Amino acid sequence: VDGDDVTVRHDPVSTADGVEIEVAGNVGTRADLAPAADRGADGIGLFRTEFLFLDRQSPPDEQEQYEAYVEALETFPEGRVVVRTLDVGGDKPIDYLDLPEEENPFLGERGIRRSLSPDADLFETQLRALLRAAAHDTGGDLAVMLPLVSTVDEVVAARERLELFADDLEREGIEYAVPEFGVMVETPAAAFMAADLAEEVDFFSIGTNDLAQYVMAAERGNERVADLGDYRQPAVLRAIRATVDAAEGTDVWVGMCGEMAGDPELTELLLGLGLDELSMSAVTVPQVKQAVTETNTEAARKLADSALSASTKDEVEQVLTQNTQS
Ligand code: PEP
Ligand code: MG
Repeated sequence: VDGDDVTVRHDPVSTADGVEIEVAGNVGTRADLAPAADRGADGIGLFRTEFLFLDRQSPPDEQEQYEAYVEALETFPEGRVVVRTLDVGGDKPIDYLDLPEEENPFLGERGIRRSLSPDADLFETQLRALLRAAAHDTGGDLAVMLPLVSTVDEVVAARERLELFADDLEREGIEYAVPEFGVMVETPAAAFMAADLAEEVDFFSIGTNDLAQYVMAAERGNERVADLGDYRQPAVLRAIRATVDAAEGTDVWVGMCGEMAGDPELTELLLGLGLDELSMSAVTVPQVKQAVTETNTEAARKLADSALSASTKDEVEQVLTQNTQS
């Protein structure tokens, strides 16, 4: 479908049987904010803060970051803005950070691993800016999300820091609020440990770009293994299901912010798998909203069950094709 043929909906959408689904935008630069709002995103499901740190000689200070987060909140006065803490390492280098030479950077010191140790000072600055921005009263909500989590310890340690820095702000007499706190589920460890992680967080957001890479042991962006690293692989679907199942019966909401979330042909499947929120680049927001309104939850669950029982990627695709034709 040509993006321009689809109605842009500025209000939240529900499935045909009335289940409201949050459809949010991913932003990778400041310039992505306005288009996300224009295309009808309900909020930001993934604010990649790397861009604040790129193309410069030194990291942004607390005030500069605070202003960027407030700008995002003001763009979505009624929505939620999920800010991901700095995710460097792997394929995301930043010159002045002096990243180590690693043979397998995707398996090395990246994401939360760096924030807890070599980049602890940057993490402090970022969390202070986020605590302050969370107090900014627009009516919308700020949420903080940790990248590349693989253990409960990482989450507990990060939350302790958030609390510590909140205490510091309190003592300093600076206004702050404690934001919603969540993690990306983008490693097999996080998917396996989701029930335990659910006790520590308010939400999960599944990062299918990395989750597919790590579940399938197939490097993202490597054409030679692209078929293996596809999010339609049954192993990836089962990791998604395990994550959603672990959150069921808790207050933890589950979103998805990997590229899979932006494919309108998979919206029914994803809602059937039990996702509460989908976040994607602005272009496909209207198509995904449209697909949500056309989805019936009961039928979507059946579709998800069929896809989950498939043994091969081809079978998953057959299930999806048959469903479109019926
Ligand atoms: C992901 O891994 O799916 C994700 C959304 O994060 P990024 O693409 O920034 O690694
Ligand atoms: Mg990722």
